[in-house]
Amino acid sequence: MPDTHRPLIAGNWKMNTLQADGVALATDLAELYQATSEPIFEMLLAPPFPLIAKVGEAIAGSGLSLGGQDCHRLSKGAHTGDVSAVLLADLGCRYAIVGHSERRANHGETDADVMAKAAAAHKAGIGAIICVGETQEEHEDDKSIDVVKAQIAGSVPDGATAANTVIAYEPVWAIGSGRTPSPASVQDMHDFIRGELAARLDGETADDIRILYGGSMTPNNAVEFLRLPDVDGGLIGGASLTAEDFWAVAQCYPLAT
Ligand code: PEP
Repeated sequence: MPDTHRPLIAGNWKMNTLQADGVALATDLAELYQATSEPIFEMLLAPPFPLIAKVGEAIAGSGLSLGGQDCHRLSKGAHTGDVSAVLLADLGCRYAIVGHSERRANHGETDADVMAKAAAAHKAGIGAIICVGETQEEHEDDKSIDVVKAQIAGSVPDGATAANTVIAYEPVWAIGSGRTPSPASVQDMHDFIRGELAARLDGETADDIRILYGGSMTPNNAVEFLRLPDVDGGLIGGASLTAEDFWAVAQCYPLAT
């Protein structure tokens, strides 16, 4: 189960890396993490499914966390190409990312699907990193708050706790684009999300649930986001693909607090 007391720096490798470079990346990060005495941040690697076992071997004993980029809502059955949260747990994963905007857009995943996947992760004993965030069009139409409100209401399952749930706020227009929202607007959105969680769950749970910012976070801008009071870490795509950049993002943490 996740360690809720530390901020989370999560790397979403997406459909990148082959065996050799994936294992090399994981090995480099494991060495860096292990060499850090009492790191103040938890660090998560979410490689493509076929690499989970090998990356798990590469980071064994390092303290790094392992995660899947998705999971099915059911624990087994005739679902060609899908992966259960039960198998992720069996492979040593602590988390499954669910509802990433690329899954919502490319695979037609609805809030109800995302909620069912998060519930499946909980049932399997792993944490769900539930992604929310508005599109460019919704951003331009000033609908970001309404969109995120509906996604939180529709995607966070009953029984969500700080131990089994992380929220990632990822404006879709910021993902992979090099564009980022202002830190002030990220703080406002995270504060809003925490309020929605308090109404949906309870105040104490909402205070403890980690809310990550994701979208073009790099070593150059990470400190601006990680220092915000309601930002409890980052979900990082492109900059998680080299040990140098991903580690540099995480190293912003001591500066940010
Ligand atoms: C992501 O896909 O979750 C993400 C934040 O990507 P990037 O950091 O590349 O914008």
